[in-house]
Amino acid sequence: MVLDAYFLRSLTFAGYAPALAECARCGTSERPLVAFAMAAGGMVCAEDRPPGAASPAPQTVALMVALLRGDWTSAMRSERRHRVECSGLVAAYLQWHLEHSIRSLRHVERA
Ligand SMILES: [Zn+2]
Repeated sequence: MVLDAYFLRSLTFAGYAPALAECARCGTSERPLVAFAMAAGGMVCAEDRPPGAASPAPQTVALMVALLRGDWTSAMRSERRHRVECSGLVAAYLQWHLEHSIRSLRHVERA
């Protein structure tokens, strides 16, 4: 969990904080957020859900929020299965951003 918290905070510092409280596409917080979409940048509502997006348990999303905030009291109360799911999502999200930022290096002009 410490590593996941570190990754989440590093991503936030780099400007890639995952959207967890509102839809990463349309910005709504009125509809329930049903899926985690890497390319969209976090949780999305049912209307914006891309095919193949993972549907994490609400407790897993709550754990990601706690890790981002550094709320260890809440994080330590989480169940193992939610920690496992959280780790998987954080790793996939991090990998997605690393691959995309490395690919974009090709477009940077070198002197
Ligand atoms: Zn939406």
